[in-house]
Amino acid sequence: MQGWSSVAKWTVFGPVACMVIALVYNAIAFADLGPEALRRSLLSATILPALVASPLFFYFSVRLRNLAITNRRLGLVARTDSLTSCLNRGAFTARVETVLDGEAALEAGALLMIDADNFKAINDLFGHDAGDEALTILSRSIRSVLRAGDLIGRMGGEEFAVFLPRVDQKNAEAIAERIRRVVQLAQFAPRGQAYPLTVSIGGAVFNNRTSFAELFRIADQRLYGAKHSGRNQAVIVHALDHPSIALRKTA
Ligand code: GH3
Ligand code: MG
Ligand code: MG
Repeated sequence: MQGWSSVAKWTVFGPVACMVIALVYNAIAFADLGPEALRRSLLSATILPALVASPLFFYFSVRLRNLAITNRRLGLVARTDSLTSCLNRGAFTARVETVLDGEAALEAGALLMIDADNFKAINDLFGHDAGDEALTILSRSIRSVLRAGDLIGRMGGEEFAVFLPRVDQKNAEAIAERIRRVVQLAQFAPRGQAYPLTVSIGGAVFNNRTSFAELFRIADQRLYGAKHSGRNQAVIVHALDHPSIALRKTA
């Protein structure tokens, strides 16, 4: 119930339905009246619904349409990070879980965890607004590398996650490297002063049924590894090679 076509349908068919009901009722209830009285009762059964029901159906269908639009907008706001327009953590997690779950679950892909390097320094040096600008540049840069169907979420603070359906390890590594490079080349110049942005990336590739929690744990550990190996790098592993992975049984 969102388009004007629905409003038009309700405004036309609602009163028509009322007319039909009134006509049938009058024809049965007043069948023993004379032809003139019957004609008048049938006339009122057509005119009254047209005059009264049409505006009422129009009014309520417009109200329903507005409610549906507001509802859709609220849903979008609840799922979206307001600064970067990425999915927020809850929505990202739910979307990936949906893709990994169920009968037709996706059985290959990768999860990348992306964390801005030394981000605190940006806030300290240039202020929180500059930090916010850097976050929008980061999200835009990451998005520029993604394909239709890939998902990006802001997992909190200066940390993003990307879900890449149907990629193998080689593809996932190439995409992670592209993200790393595009961020490094991004223009960020707080107070007119060029300042380099870099990210560290940890990733988990899978080609077996798995869960978001398992992928998240592995990717997060690899991210930690990338930070400790000097930042501005991507470490992608296959979930099967990871000792702590517990793959779920295929149904
Ligand atoms: P590391 O390379 O180890 O990740 O260092 P880091 O400085 O990026 O990490 P740390 O966790 O020490 O600091 C993260 C900073 O990100 C601190 C916090 O103020 C900042 N931050 C988190 N969310 C936002 C935000 O929405 N806007 C701004 N401007 N800063 C944010
Ligand atoms: Mg960081
Ligand atoms: Mg962080």
